[in-house]
Amino acid sequence: MDPFEDTLRRLREAFNTGRTRPAAFRAAQLEGLGRFLQDNKQLLQDALAQDLHKSPFESDVSELITSQNEVDLALKNLQDWMKDDPASKSLLTRLDSAFVRKEPFGLVLIIAPWNYPVNLTLVPLVGALAAGNCVVLKPSEISKSTEKVLAEMLPQYLDQSCFAVVLGGPQETGRLLEHKFDYIFFTGSPRVGKIIMAAATKHLTPVTLELGGKNPCYVDDDCDPQTVANRVALFRYFNTGQTCVAPDYILCSPETQERLLPALQSTITRFYGDDPRSSPYLGRIINQKQFQRLQGLLGCGRVAIGGQSDESDLYIEPSPGPRFPAAQFQDADAPRRCGPELEEIFGPILPIVNVRSLDEAIDFIKRREKPLALYAFSNSSQVVNQMLDRTSSGSFVGNEGFIYLTLPSLPLGGVGNSGMGRYHGKFSFDTFSHHRACLLSYPGLEKLKEIRYPPFTYWKQQLISWALDSQSCTLL
Ligand code: NAD
Repeated sequence: MDPFEDTLRRLREAFNTGRTRPAAFRAAQLEGLGRFLQDNKQLLQDALAQDLHKSPFESDVSELITSQNEVDLALKNLQDWMKDDPASKSLLTRLDSAFVRKEPFGLVLIIAPWNYPVNLTLVPLVGALAAGNCVVLKPSEISKSTEKVLAEMLPQYLDQSCFAVVLGGPQETGRLLEHKFDYIFFTGSPRVGKIIMAAATKHLTPVTLELGGKNPCYVDDDCDPQTVANRVALFRYFNTGQTCVAPDYILCSPETQERLLPALQSTITRFYGDDPRSSPYLGRIINQKQFQRLQGLLGCGRVAIGGQSDESDLYIEPSPGPRFPAAQFQDADAPRRCGPELEEIFGPILPIVNVRSLDEAIDFIKRREKPLALYAFSNSSQVVNQMLDRTSSGSFVGNEGFIYLTLPSLPLGGVGNSGMGRYHGKFSFDTFSHHRACLLSYPGLEKLKEIRYPPFTYWKQQLISWALDSQSCTLL
């Protein structure tokens, strides 16, 4: 017995009727999603507090307001985004109509992780609904309280013939992936990303993979350590470090490290008080498995600050500075268990790797997988621009943290090991739309078109070559 078959058949049949295509239907779904967010604000905040100990402020800023903003933006721009894009023409097609039509893919699957369980489920959903798809949503089974609210409440606000929430972990998701979808949007780890892509290959289903990564944070000698400490700490310890785009480790010289550590200590005390554990602004690790993984990491290097933890409360103190010399990671025989060689820190630990120069930092970064985000802090715009020009990553930020995520005008997406595809704002609409090349010609005007038919004389060939040139149209 296949638990998904009936649901998927129902959704596919609904899509085939064409009811999701009109702008009015799409707008009604987006409005429903907006109402869901408003009506269930308290429920969602409570669920996020249970799952991740998120403060109402963090929940609002990074989950609820962000999702609502995406809904509002899509509603405001829907008509415009849906419009055909006119295409330029050659002389040969001058009298035809050429355009790109944005059409829905059909039945879309969205699979989400646990770390921002509202945002990373609903923001892709906004794009999928705006683009006129039917959607199956698979929230993370690990952020259980949020999963429950999404499963029980969200369908009440959307057309249930076109939308469904399905539940389950790896095994159930594996079965779900045996079915054919028209698009799969996955957010999660690179390891599972490969499983998703392999499953999609069977049906030649296009995918977006929003994956994790290790995000280097270069701190130049020419910087104000306190400013850097404030900005790095805010974004490293936000959501207790469980953020895909968080600075994962610092690259700096030993001298800058000595200036940065006391600054980080002072920032942490200012942000979270003398006893960070009692701070309402510091969350908790999602579960025991992750806690134990992070405990192992703390044992790897020399922790400079913090390092306290309590398994019964899933608490880990903000801990900058298990310290590692970069040379340790360039020696092929060195043990590669710790810090910058691990998959992803994904917690409130901030290893520091010592490099001697900007060149060595760039070399260190380029020897590794392309990160999801890359940060560079320096008073010198030359240094920041060199880092930008000589490296590659999903996103790049100079002298800031992941504040860029608040701009729907910038896409979120990885490159290489950190993923493929992008979304947010109009990028989401485009991701969930097939861009169909359309050319509408006339049944008449045959005399004009005869030039294209054999037999081809020398002059006919010359004329066609000229008329095919995209510039030929503007010359006339
Ligand atoms: P995960 O890859 O373990 O799980 C993500 C989703 O995949 C969940 O819904 C889960 O149920 C499902 N899943 C897990 N194993 C599966 C399997 N074997 N077959 C099919 N489905 C399976 O990721 P996670 O632990 O939930 O989230 C943390 C990871 O996500 C980190 O690597 C983080 O960097 C990444 N992430 C990336 C972004 C981004 O925007 N690029 C955002 C948030 C998190």
